[in-house]
Amino acid sequence: MLNFRNTNIFFIILLAAGIGIYIQYGFPFYFIFLLPIAYCLIVFWGCYYVGSNFFITIVCKANTANKEIAISFDDGPATLFTPGILQVLKNEHVKATFFCIGSRIAGNEAILKQVHADGHIIGNHSYSHHFWFDLYSAKKCRMTWH
Ligand SMILES: [Zn+2]
Repeated sequence: MLNFRNTNIFFIILLAAGIGIYIQYGFPFYFIFLLPIAYCLIVFWGCYYVGSNFFITIVCKANTANKEIAISFDDGPATLFTPGILQVLKNEHVKATFFCIGSRIAGNEAILKQVHADGHIIGNHSYSHHFWFDLYSAKKCRMTWH
């Protein structure tokens, strides 16, 4: 299974084998740099294509014949964006889910109450969302969520 852990193990073995072959038989040393490039391409693919489940298992589709989508907004409530989003959703008669950051609720209680009053779903997106959260390891993400 192509995932982050197996990719790391595979490339470490390849790198060790490459170094051994280089020492034993010799070949142009720049071939060693092909491994990190290949590694970066695979990790980039895992980041770009969320449905690959490269880092963690993610549900991004449902087995249904209905033409439906789920809309969610992360990192709010935000004074600058959330009221406008709520207005657009209201105009279009669309419901969504708002994954809120606990520390951003203080001072934006009225916006959050409006989200609830409009019938949207409110979800937890941690209490404090670190700027580099998206680059955390799967293990650290799981620890952060508990
Ligand atoms: Zn976020």
